[in-house]
Amino acid sequence: MITFEEGLKHVLESAFETGTETVSFLASAGRVLAADVISDIDMPPFNKTAVDGYACRVLDLGKPLKVLEVINAGKQPVNIVTDGTCSKIMTGAPVPEGADFVFMVEDAESIADGRVRFTGKSRKDNIARFGEDVRNGDMVLTRGRLIRPQDIAVMASVGCTLVQVKQMPRAGIISTGSELVEPSSRPGKSQIRNSNAYQLLAQCERAGATGRYYGIAIDDEAVTLNMLSRALEENDVVILTGGVSAGDYDFVPAVLENAGVKILFDSMAVQPGRPTTFGVHSSALVFGLPGNPVSSFIQFELLVKPLFMKMMQCEWKPVQWELPLAEDFRRKNSIRTGWLPVIITAKGKVRPVEYHGSAHISALPDADGIMMVQAGISSIKAGTKVYVRQI
Ligand code: AMP
Ligand code: MG
Repeated sequence: MITFEEGLKHVLESAFETGTETVSFLASAGRVLAADVISDIDMPPFNKTAVDGYACRVLDLGKPLKVLEVINAGKQPVNIVTDGTCSKIMTGAPVPEGADFVFMVEDAESIADGRVRFTGKSRKDNIARFGEDVRNGDMVLTRGRLIRPQDIAVMASVGCTLVQVKQMPRAGIISTGSELVEPSSRPGKSQIRNSNAYQLLAQCERAGATGRYYGIAIDDEAVTLNMLSRALEENDVVILTGGVSAGDYDFVPAVLENAGVKILFDSMAVQPGRPTTFGVHSSALVFGLPGNPVSSFIQFELLVKPLFMKMMQCEWKPVQWELPLAEDFRRKNSIRTGWLPVIITAKGKVRPVEYHGSAHISALPDADGIMMVQAGISSIKAGTKVYVRQI
């Protein structure tokens, strides 16, 4: 049995890189940027007012000023601002020549002959200077980032309408177990609904991969081998659930060997998820995740998601916190590293949710994260800082 860290190392060392493709910038959110984005303009492209107000010379603040014109956004100023004059100006419009200050309408007093005067106190000029944000040729987004909506705004502003992204890893999903029925059926006696496959498909989507579901393989070597062989040919990664423990009908390890998969590990000192299996095949990487849905969920988050991110060369880090425990924690068995569903309270403390074990699927929706309890530790006092990873 290896540690989680050793398991993760095997997985990441087996990663191969996906190719790149070009997509519309609008379709790129959630994808991994494969080429740097360079600006084709200076930003701001001219000295721009950040407020609605009056553009004047700083020397003239406090004097009565004659208004030369009104400059709205999108308009070029006509007049040069000189001694004793100003121009009314709207947010986003170019500051006229001669002006080095814009005071806000709120700080303007109207006096005789349509003149105005600055009555404020602030000496902030309210001018965004030409090129102060970005210069033409600057790199505005670097490759390897997970693209977010705010990145799309940057792409739009520099005219990057087509963007190079990494191809999404293709993941094939197989559920094993003769007791499984699909969610649309009502389970008969001794049957249960297949929840893992759909949870995994959604996890794949969230982790930037495309999931493809192959169905339920009953606990039969030939049936499982047949489904696995097809999935191996058609995907970068194949994820099976169930059938990896030591029961009489746990055929997955034997099927993996028959399919030509070289198994790199078949158990990890983690709870839940001990029988987690990982292997390499000439055409795909293969996970055998435990059948219990909480184990499958957690091992996907801990092992499979980082693999996808590495395959896409993504500079990704899990969202993680070190926060104090809200109440004393105790567990019976401390041989393995534990992961437990927890909530983060409004006061920033960590509280385990009610959790009956790795089949307790309804414990997960309430949880904000999973808390790590190191192997060898059986109790943790309230107030002690613990490591939590967002789920
Ligand atoms: P196994 O790893 O095949 O021994 O399965 C462990 C437990 O997880 C058993 O109670 C199974 O019925 C359950 N299980 C296996 N596969 C699934 C699945 N796809 N969805 C929900 N539960 C499952
Ligand atoms: Mg089974």
